Amino acid sequence: MPQTKLTDDNNVFTAHLQAGQPETEHVGTGFAGHPRMAVARTIGLQDLSASHGFVAVASRDIDAVYASWRFMTSVLFGLWLTVASLATWGLARYQKSAARLRDIADKAEHDMRYSNERFEQLAQTIPCVLYDFEVSASGKVTVTYVSPYIQTLVGITPEAFLADYSQLTRRIPEEDRAVFLDAIANAISHGMAFEFEFRLQAPSGVMRWVRSTATAGASAKGAAVTHFSGFIFDITDTKNQQLQLRDMAYQDPLTQADNRRSFIEKLLAEIARVQRYGEQASLLMVDIDFFKQVNDTYGHLVGDVALKHLVAVLQTGLRGLDSLGRLGGEEFAVLLPDTDLEAATQLAERLRLAVQASPVIEAGQTVPFTISIGVVAITADTPDMKTVLHMADKAMYHAKQTGRNRVCTAAEAPDTTLQSALD
Ligand code: GH3
Ligand code: MG
Ligand code: MG
Repeated sequence: MPQTKLTDDNNVFTAHLQAGQPETEHVGTGFAGHPRMAVARTIGLQDLSASHGFVAVASRDIDAVYASWRFMTSVLFGLWLTVASLATWGLARYQKSAARLRDIADKAEHDMRYSNERFEQLAQTIPCVLYDFEVSASGKVTVTYVSPYIQTLVGITPEAFLADYSQLTRRIPEEDRAVFLDAIANAISHGMAFEFEFRLQAPSGVMRWVRSTATAGASAKGAAVTHFSGFIFDITDTKNQQLQLRDMAYQDPLTQADNRRSFIEKLLAEIARVQRYGEQASLLMVDIDFFKQVNDTYGHLVGDVALKHLVAVLQTGLRGLDSLGRLGGEEFAVLLPDTDLEAATQLAERLRLAVQASPVIEAGQTVPFTISIGVVAITADTPDMKTVLHMADKAMYHAKQTGRNRVCTAAEAPDTTLQSALD
């Protein structure tokens, strides 16, 4: 062990004595040259007579003193470092995914705004009304959307329409109102899609034909229907064409009287009705006298005008439920429902006189002409349509044979075989 001199300046004892404290702590290098920590205490012994007190010193290697503290510190530091690293890494990841989510949300918002703008642009220009309405559990209807074309169609702004959609009903003519209300009520009560046609009065007063079609929607599959989305579009042109085509199928293009097919259908229906209910009806067969001469004298075009004129004169003398048909050439027939033979004969006479009294006036020329009429009653005993036409034809030919410009009944005509009106 190396020697130590107690009076050295850097000695524990010297430092203790110089400090003048009963107890002091010291850090320094030990005898073996290792760092050490020492505690020195001055001890005064009562029973011992001595000129100076004793100094007791206890020392320990510093490494040993700090070892456990160092260990704890390094463990805690390691733990702190791990936690801090994990937290930094987690924060970085969170910030990265938050940024990504923000990007996705921004893009979704942009896409949504873009598609909304496109939809609005489309809704502004498309020539039809787009709409959406909700139906509550109690059946209350709330219109949630209507496109701007509603204003063009019926002169109601979308805002006014959303506030009070019943305004639309007032633009529907009375004849179509029940169709409209029934179709909507039926669709709501059955939760079904609908499609129907009705008319709407435009702001100008013009009546337009429209078709409304909608699909039914529910909040979830199998759940009750809660809303309808659809559109109303203008079908006026198509409808007019359809009506025109229908008229063409049923009307004679020159005179607008029923064509032969349409007239025969009405005749068959009337015969069936008379037979079922034991009622009476009558049929007139009308043929222009010497019409060939009219054509030869004034030309075929004037002949056409005479045919149209004849129809107009006859229509004037008929009731709304009577039907006038052009069976061919200058041969016409009149169906008189609910009219017996006597009344029919009187009417035929009035028609004959009316035609005689109203000549065609065309291009400054007066073209007089007359008609011959055959009359037949349709009763429960009438066997069929062919027989009715044949008997009316027979009566009309009898009128021709007995002087023309006359009215004859089938009963007056001799029972000879005549050409059938159906040939
Ligand atoms: P009747 O008194 O015996 O009936 O003499 P009619 O000259 O009228 O004789 P008929 O019935 O045989 O002649 C029919 C004529 O009607 C022949 C034809 O030129 C003419 N006609 C038939 N269809 C048309 C038509 O669509 N336009 C014109 N202008 N004439 C027609
Ligand atoms: Mg004739
Ligand atoms: Mg004829």
